[in-house]
Amino acid sequence: MDHFNFTDSLLHAESVPVSDIVEAVGTPCYVYSRATLERHWHAFDRAFGDYPHRIHYAVKANANLAVLNVLARLGSGFDIVSGGELARVIAAGGNSAHTIFSGVCKQEWEIREALESGIGVFNIESEGELEAISRIAGEMNAEAGISVRINPDVDARTHPYISTGLKLSKFGLSQDRALDIYLRAAQSPGIRVHGVACHIGSQIVELAPYRDALDRVLDFVEQLGERGITVMEIDFGGGLGVRYRDESPPAPDEYARQIREQMVSRGFRIPVAIEPGRAIAGNAGILVTRVHSLKRNEQAAFCIVDAAMNDLIRPALYQAYHEIVEVVRDGARERGVYDVVGPVCESADFIGKDRELAVRPGDLLAVRTAGAYGAVLGSNYNSRPRPAEVMVDGGTFQVVRARENPAELFGSEALLP
Ligand SMILES: *Cc1c(COP(=O)(O)O)cnc(C)c1O
Repeated sequence: MDHFNFTDSLLHAESVPVSDIVEAVGTPCYVYSRATLERHWHAFDRAFGDYPHRIHYAVKANANLAVLNVLARLGSGFDIVSGGELARVIAAGGNSAHTIFSGVCKQEWEIREALESGIGVFNIESEGELEAISRIAGEMNAEAGISVRINPDVDARTHPYISTGLKLSKFGLSQDRALDIYLRAAQSPGIRVHGVACHIGSQIVELAPYRDALDRVLDFVEQLGERGITVMEIDFGGGLGVRYRDESPPAPDEYARQIREQMVSRGFRIPVAIEPGRAIAGNAGILVTRVHSLKRNEQAAFCIVDAAMNDLIRPALYQAYHEIVEVVRDGARERGVYDVVGPVCESADFIGKDRELAVRPGDLLAVRTAGAYGAVLGSNYNSRPRPAEVMVDGGTFQVVRARENPAELFGSEALLP
């Protein structure tokens, strides 16, 4: 469910006509809906009911300060994968004590800054990392909470680039290796064992992989218990999918119910942390673009728009589908089938293929479900300034990232003396 709907043939973001936003900020632009972000966050929070739980929004899905601020005001925790994301969480008013630091390659400075900020937990992925955190925490006279990310070896049945829970993945550790690390952690100065973590992938649209993963995590928790290691929290990662086209991902309710039932049936009441990113931000954003021209070759017709793969790379990177709709619906308009492509000099630069649209040059199109892994994956390829980002709140909107200008893009470069 989102808050981008048509009223009188005109696409609205909450109650603001999308065309009003474009008049103010131009195209391309990302438009986010505060009500949608809040609705999704509450859906997860309510789904767990009285079961002890914490929602840690995965910052990498959409790291705009305003997005983080909306969630921080709800009391959300955060999941970060870099020192840069930590700085954003703090700048957005997030609580670092309710922040989990994930990722396979934490740098020394990142560990230090995380400890300085009072980070809640490090999810660690190797023995070397445990040693580094223990050493740095010792130097700082601090104590670091750690969970080990285990790899439950389940197939999340999603795109290979976003599947992370298989043995061949660079993420996580096998149970055997993880057990060694826990035993060592229990003896390491500056380290407090907090929990067990896993994250099996992204855009998961079935419950079965989650059931298998949690079973393995709980087997492992039992193994730890036999060795005298108490688990305070299970961090079950993120990954719940959204509807881009015709997928029907489980609702947060069903997802949480399965976790609760599984815990209870195995006699556990360990607090659960989850790290949803896409499921909170995905449907809370659209990318608005203007049709530049229509062009026909022998084989294909192209709708050339002013947004490109540097603004939204998911179609080029994952062959991802995003629905594309006219911002103004006009039933009298002639329809055609087009590949919707951008200005970047790459054949991979497309937003959608074989789309039936009723468009003329100058019209506006909205690319839906662009709130997650959209703007954050943007680049300046072809020296294209990044688009404006706007947050809608009821009947008002605000620019939450100004459109870049070309001079900014090379402002930190230098000529030779
Ligand atoms: C990417 C990631 C998430 C969020 O994944 P979504 O599919 O956006 O929910 C959560 N946890 C970790 C460790 C991640 O790497």
